[in-house]
Amino acid sequence: MITNLEHIGIAVANEQEAVALFTKLLGRSPYKEEIVEREGVKTIFLELANVKLELLVALNEDSPVAKFIQQRGQGIHHLAFEVDDIRTQMQQASVDGFKLLADAPKAGADNKEIVFLHPKTTGGVLVEFCQEKNA
Ligand code: ZN
Repeated sequence: MITNLEHIGIAVANEQEAVALFTKLLGRSPYKEEIVEREGVKTIFLELANVKLELLVALNEDSPVAKFIQQRGQGIHHLAFEVDDIRTQMQQASVDGFKLLADAPKAGADNKEIVFLHPKTTGGVLVEFCQEKNA
């Protein structure tokens, strides 16, 4: 079951400019940053009451985020929905005709297991399912 819009991922071309911009816009500073080496990305989080922004900075030109910015420019990259059971949610999504971008959840930033759905099957919106890893 999807429980919540957990965060919105935003691809940014320039880390310092984006952090300054969103800090000014939201009136608060990022509370956390984390590198996800496997995805070639640095994540920077700002938190609101019910949702987070995840700024995505490419660490190299092969990063999916670098390719996204080359193709579409910076801006909204994905919506991340929190789920209560990511494996069950993946099975259900597959049955419902959504294409998953991986066969199993991967370790994402912020102590989450994550998987993405192909935007061709979700109306052009890259969708992430995420679930907090159990302690
Ligand atoms: Zn995300």
